[in-house]
Amino acid sequence: MKSNEVWVYVEHHGNAIVDVSLELLGKGSELARKLGVKLGAVVLGHGVGPLAPTLIRYGADRVYVVDSPVLKDYRTLPYAHAVVAMIQQHEPQVVLYGATTTGRDIAPRIASELKVGLTADCTDLKIGDFERKDATYKDILYQIRPAFGGNIIATIVSPDHRPQMATVREGVMKMNVPDERHKGEVIESVPDIPVELQTAEVVKRIQQEKSVDLKGARILVSGGMGVGSKENFRLVHQLAHALGGTVGGSRAAVDAGFIPKEHQIGQTGTTVRPTLYIALGISGQIQHLAGMSESNRIVAVNTDPAAPIFHSAHYGIVGDLNVVVPQFIEAYKSAQK
Ligand code: FAD
Repeated sequence: MKSNEVWVYVEHHGNAIVDVSLELLGKGSELARKLGVKLGAVVLGHGVGPLAPTLIRYGADRVYVVDSPVLKDYRTLPYAHAVVAMIQQHEPQVVLYGATTTGRDIAPRIASELKVGLTADCTDLKIGDFERKDATYKDILYQIRPAFGGNIIATIVSPDHRPQMATVREGVMKMNVPDERHKGEVIESVPDIPVELQTAEVVKRIQQEKSVDLKGARILVSGGMGVGSKENFRLVHQLAHALGGTVGGSRAAVDAGFIPKEHQIGQTGTTVRPTLYIALGISGQIQHLAGMSESNRIVAVNTDPAAPIFHSAHYGIVGDLNVVVPQFIEAYKSAQK
């Protein structure tokens, strides 16, 4: 039965829905509205029915709950098989996945099984028309992402095959504000998963705690190559500490060993949208901007008045961070008194 819906593949850990799935419901509602179709959320697992009300509050019009003891733990083959069966049965026109470890594992398998396209790591999605030779395709999914090392922003389409599928980076799309009044339908099913696909067994799950929460930070103070050394990065830490913020870094600062990789912000790091982002000695290359340009307020400190970061900054200070940061801290502390 052709539903033509927009679908979001929902990830969850220990029955908590991961943020990127809720973010995709936000973007998915916008796309579904534009197409005049319903937004579906597909959630797999065992005992996952109780997640449905949250998915509806965040925008899903239909929640497809695929429940089985076989799906208790994420395993590629049974999960991919169950999603393929759901897509074949309901024929959505768009399916979106988070560009997480799981999303990057399952989405290509589903794409290859269904012989459809898949665009990885999208940073935006839109609906529009597409013209090719003498054919015009109406209401196609524009799958937008940086390409060629971030030097161009490419718009990719798959006009001939359905569903159109994309993985989307975490933290890029905005979640809807949960709406208690939003009504949705729950459709439950039990998948038929052949025994030969149940080859792997999950023996133990070891979870490593994240040492830094960049996405959850309201204030981020980031340092780049201009900080000069690992030792001098203490200035970045001191300012972050004074403001009650979290420390981030550019990839160049990470590569130089000034700060560990989990602090990296940008295209190949974390995407953030804090209330305040302070960029110290960061030039503002497109790959860095891809991860922070949606911040509410951006303050940049750079010795080079022509640094590209100043095009994105709301407040720019042309100066040496070694001079400016101690002044910042002192001014902030005396204003607090
Ligand atoms: P630089 O570009 O070297 O800039 C240093 C800045 O510090 C300069 O503007 C300089 O004027 C200023 N400065 C120097 N001394 C001082 C001082 N005393 N006080 C104040 N300012 C000073 N980059 C990321 O950040 N995140 C990513 O996720 C990322 N992913 C990438 C993915 C790909 C595929 C590629 C090809 C690149 C990626 N990059 C990423 C790298 C990116 O292109 C840039 O090289 C990097 O962002 C530069 O870091 P930077 O601004 O710290 O260093």
